[in-house]
Amino acid sequence: MAKEDLECSFCGRKKPETSLLIAGLDAHICDKCIEQAHGIVAEESKEDVSDELEQELKLSKPKAIKAFLDTYVIGQDFSKKVISVAVYNHYKRLLQKSDDDDIEIQKSNIVLVGQTGTGKTLIAKTIAKMLNVPLAIVDATVLTEAGYVGEDVETILTKLLAAADYNLEKAERGIVFIDEIDKIARKGDNPSITRDVSGEGVQQALLKLLEGSVVNVPPKGGRKHPDQKFIEVNTENILFIAGGAFDGIERNIQKRLNMQAVGFSASLNEDSIEQDNMLQYIIPKDLKDFGLIPEIIGRLPVLSYMNPLDTKTLRAILTEPKNAIIKQYTKLFDMDEIDLKISEDALDFIVEKANEYKLGARGLRSLCEAILTDAMFELPDSGEKELEITREYAEQKIDKSNIRTLKAVS
Ligand code: ADP
Repeated sequence: MAKEDLECSFCGRKKPETSLLIAGLDAHICDKCIEQAHGIVAEESKEDVSDELEQELKLSKPKAIKAFLDTYVIGQDFSKKVISVAVYNHYKRLLQKSDDDDIEIQKSNIVLVGQTGTGKTLIAKTIAKMLNVPLAIVDATVLTEAGYVGEDVETILTKLLAAADYNLEKAERGIVFIDEIDKIARKGDNPSITRDVSGEGVQQALLKLLEGSVVNVPPKGGRKHPDQKFIEVNTENILFIAGGAFDGIERNIQKRLNMQAVGFSASLNEDSIEQDNMLQYIIPKDLKDFGLIPEIIGRLPVLSYMNPLDTKTLRAILTEPKNAIIKQYTKLFDMDEIDLKISEDALDFIVEKANEYKLGARGLRSLCEAILTDAMFELPDSGEKELEITREYAEQKIDKSNIRTLKAVS
């Protein structure tokens, strides 16, 4: 058959009428039909994703999400509840059919305020684990406005792409945890000259990501470079969780509450205010007074706080979560067929020390490490089958260690 007589087996167009005709075993397909078929495939797979989502949504009602969080995160009930609802709504939003009506559900990006080591990152990690979506953890302090020394905000998405093994679709449904968001608050006294001095520029740049837009992302990170190819990432369905300690924000809250108490016959009278946990009264205005720009606050509509960890919570963190520190050590010893037993008062001692050195939950691990390192070194080839850690044993190891130097780390 002459070349010109070849035709598309799907639409019947002759070769000269097509831009491209691809030959199969005993059929041909033209460029137009390929495009059309590709459209059908894309539409089908979209439906698949939506089915999958719908399935997950059925499984993960807010109470189920909270129950999952409970297995990893001790205490912080208020935040866990607020986040469970936010995540649930986020999913509903993803399922929303665009042609339903004119009501468009806004994103449920979250901001968590609380001291370091109270479980903010842990919550983000646990949610990502539960949803089986990629998670990027980034530190806001390294971000700068384009043109300054530091990283452009787009590198946040580079990290998310990497976490998603460069699967764009997965990345576009992922979670980004931005730590230390408070450090880019607008301040007049930032002494750096190489960095965006106010922090406001970074906030402006972040806005674009938070509100949902298509961003050109350098897949390998680093500075934007004219020769580098970009990946277009749509941030519309990415859930952003921002966390920060907001040191000193309690004073703003206190001031506001006092003013309210004076101004009105307020429902919040001074006696009912829990002075040692002011964060629970936080409202968006406090973030604004701290130096976050209103647009950023508007894009982080779900605001919650983390409680400081008391002794009881620290004690529970040691042994109760699914991957509790003590469970991890028990497993490590178990792999050498050594039965690890830690007495209750040894555990109490670890918590006391974490409190004393103001190490919080982060310190629990360092303390355990200091107590158990000798045993982890000696026992595997000693033939011993049991290790019992008493309070005395723990005290002795801590006395010998230089754990006090960790104080500065917290
Ligand atoms: P943050 O992000 O608030 O600074 P992290 O979530 O990184 O704190 O917490 C540090 C470590 O402390 C975690 O890896 C976890 O082991 C432990 N931790 C902190 N808070 C909790 C909590 N509420 N429940 C269980 N573990 C916690």
